[in-house]
Amino acid sequence: MILICLECKNPVDLTSYPDLDTGHVLECEMCGITLEVTSIDGDKIKAEVVDEGK
Ligand SMILES: [Zn+2]
Repeated sequence: MILICLECKNPVDLTSYPDLDTGHVLECEMCGITLEVTSIDGDKIKAEVVDEGK
């Protein structure tokens, strides 16, 4: 499964999230942004940025 960070466009390492599912919140190691999984379609994962600043 591949998830490209919305912020820095780097692939997010998902190996530490074996139970990844919709609604799962994970963090990009490259830029530190928090992403929430919105949908999983096969090996394509969509996510949106969780805005923690507001
Ligand atoms: Zn990132």
